[in-house]
Amino acid sequence: MELWWCRSKGCGRISPVFFGENEEEIEERKKCWLEHKVSVLEPVEDSFVSERSDIEPVKTTFFYAVDENGKRWVVKQWREAIEEPRCYEIFEGRIATWITDIHVQEDAIRQRLTDLKIKEPYEDFLIIFLKNQIPFVKYDTEMVVEGNNSPEIQILLNRRMVVHLIAQTTLFFKEEQSVSFKKIVEEENVSGGVLPFRGRRNVRII
Ligand SMILES: [Zn+2]
Repeated sequence: MELWWCRSKGCGRISPVFFGENEEEIEERKKCWLEHKVSVLEPVEDSFVSERSDIEPVKTTFFYAVDENGKRWVVKQWREAIEEPRCYEIFEGRIATWITDIHVQEDAIRQRLTDLKIKEPYEDFLIIFLKNQIPFVKYDTEMVVEGNNSPEIQILLNRRMVVHLIAQTTLFFKEEQSVSFKKIVEEENVSGGVLPFRGRRNVRII
């Protein structure tokens, strides 16, 4: 939704372009339009990052928006309570995100391997392998991060990790054993699968 931003000193009103038919607001807007300096900001698609999950009604979201001169701004959007209108603040700068609490879905993996009746010999081998990859997750730009607009994220194993994992399997296990394992790696390294790392995304304006 486009934002309407009055850039006059001492005014600074920000509101969505389409909003309620509140007489008072319409009057104020008219005044900004005629006497002040107004910019219309176009939000940049896919730039939305929230501090809390999508389903939370009261949360803070950051996104980029571009003005009529093509300049990019950071917009902070939030509301104090579910019945309150959204508030906006505009900054110069960029949205920085970083990942913390990276962990392996240990219980889910154990359960899945038990269900598939291949708990032995893969269980500990797989969990140790994944735990050893954690230090690399943060720095690996090839990594696909799922859940763009949520702080709870899933990080899929990248190609290097998959190749490495399969190579080790071939080394340690008999061929007929490793065939079923390869299939699991393929099926479970997806959003919602048991293989992706889980983590938390933090967001800040810098
Ligand atoms: Zn104004």
